[in-house]
Amino acid sequence: MSVSRRIPIAGVVAALATSALLLFQQTGAPAPEPAAKADSAQAEQRQAMFVYRVVGGVNDSERLIQVGSDVLEQRDGDDLFVLGNAEEANRLTKAGFTTKVESVMAPAPWAPPKAHNNSEPLGVNDINETYYGGYRTVRAQHSHLDKVLADYPALSTGVTYGQSWRKSTGRPNGYDLRAICLTKKQAGDCALNTSAAKPRFFLMAQIHAREITTGDMAWRWIDHLTQGYGTDAEVTRLMDTTEMWVVPITNPDGVDIVQAGGSSPRLQRKNANTTNGTCGTGGQVGIDLNRNANSHYGQAGTSTNPCAETYRGPRADSETELNSLQALFTKLYPDKRGDGDTTPAAKDTKGLMITFHSYTNGIIFPWAHRANTYTGNDASLRRMAKDMAGITGYTYGTAPQVVGYAASGGTEDWLYDKLGVPGFTFEIGPSSGTCGGFLPPYSCQTSTFWPKIKPALMYAAKQAAAPYAS
Ligand SMILES: [Zn+2]
Repeated sequence: MSVSRRIPIAGVVAALATSALLLFQQTGAPAPEPAAKADSAQAEQRQAMFVYRVVGGVNDSERLIQVGSDVLEQRDGDDLFVLGNAEEANRLTKAGFTTKVESVMAPAPWAPPKAHNNSEPLGVNDINETYYGGYRTVRAQHSHLDKVLADYPALSTGVTYGQSWRKSTGRPNGYDLRAICLTKKQAGDCALNTSAAKPRFFLMAQIHAREITTGDMAWRWIDHLTQGYGTDAEVTRLMDTTEMWVVPITNPDGVDIVQAGGSSPRLQRKNANTTNGTCGTGGQVGIDLNRNANSHYGQAGTSTNPCAETYRGPRADSETELNSLQALFTKLYPDKRGDGDTTPAAKDTKGLMITFHSYTNGIIFPWAHRANTYTGNDASLRRMAKDMAGITGYTYGTAPQVVGYAASGGTEDWLYDKLGVPGFTFEIGPSSGTCGGFLPPYSCQTSTFWPKIKPALMYAAKQAAAPYAS
């Protein structure tokens, strides 16, 4: 289903999407420990999960988050959506919400994922490691970066900017945090300092691990830029003039948990940090990396419950996946904005960041932390979002406008708050239809998502030279 929804500047979305009952591939309650044995993983897979429509949820969104519901990045008019097991409907009813079953994610036959051993160095064959019909594992994504670095030395620079929580604490199945910088290299390009000659466009994917479409889009973007250099005039011009940074897997430990589900990917959203409490069946361990940032930290749309999907962590910037990324941002972009919600960033600010999420076919820009609060660069942000919405057919606005609730401590709010760099969230994919939800068939990447995302990324990359010029 192609949803074309526009948000008036005043900002209320009037969305109507007829919702068909969907049968997705199954997911189970996420396991508290990623290295679950096959038998427990199989037992876990038998539980059906439901997407519930919460009628009028937009009007009580903060309470919905505070009761611990897994509120999806989706809205339909005044309705919100919650992912949960069979008991979740009763829980919501008791809390005073009106719910309807929107879709059922029925259990699918479980097949074990390919075994992997992260203590071994990446091999050339790791690039072919996939799950769920073609989605790339973390090892495949990192092997892909190695191949691009080997095949295109004049166009690519690799940066390891940190280690995941598991790796940094010596646990198994942890990963490096990796970025790649793509450009036709001149002296000084892709250096870790803020005096770059070229503007910097930054794309990051899978900070929420279960949003599996997003890592695949990042993979394709890397190939599009490298394979298109010298053959595609638009790509060549862009690579000659702009640094293109990509982090394909922002939350590798989380993705490791997702891919461990094999043909039934687990819906792990957060990182794998287990030090703040363990969660039984129906709860999910980890910190929401998109609620942990030190920008209006701890305000709306965040939870203090370590098992909630929006758990903000014990303190601002506590998580290594996030603070390592922020350190990278700080090395790449000079600070061009003063304090205060309405202080604009300098007109000569360069750079632009997109963080990929799923789903609801929407494009979001700051502020997310509070409704009806707009940045000093709102006109420029809105202009760019409108253009990208025109390309993709998506809706656009601030997070409260697009998904119907505020969310503080997010990546793009932090980047704009601290450095003045414009950031956009893309909520890729429809909420219903063949390619809807968290786990679309892999064929949707080629048929539905990439044809819209590619031109939007090309547009965004060009804006990095002077995002606030108009
Ligand atoms: Zn997300």
